Amino acid sequence: MFRVRVIDHFSSAHNLRGYEGNCERLHGHNWKVEIVLQGDKLDNLGMLVDFKVLKKHLKNLLDELDHTYLNEHRYFKDVNPTSENMAKYIFMRMKEIFGDLVYKVAVWESHNAVAEYFE
Ligand SMILES: [Zn+2]
Repeated sequence: MFRVRVIDHFSSAHNLRGYEGNCERLHGHNWKVEIVLQGDKLDNLGMLVDFKVLKKHLKNLLDELDHTYLNEHRYFKDVNPTSENMAKYIFMRMKEIFGDLVYKVAVWESHNAVAEYFE
């Protein structure tokens, strides 16, 4: 099997509905997002996926979230914008492009706290 991994960042605000504690109040994070693709077949150049293409699609998606209030995003109107749910959302969106090659998405909300989603 082969795996490729790309990392990017964005900044946004959120608050956790129903949380008893200071995360219920509006605050922001500089999020680090890591995506891992996995597969057993390489193309004729010897690539699982072109890093340039993967980086571009991840960046396009993160641009959509950058400098926004996540609770107002269409997906997070009903779903709490936790790191876990953000990892799932990014996973699903990237799956629309890369299909079953998408193996895992990790969302870091700080340097020592990360949530991962995979299927
Ligand atoms: Zn937070």
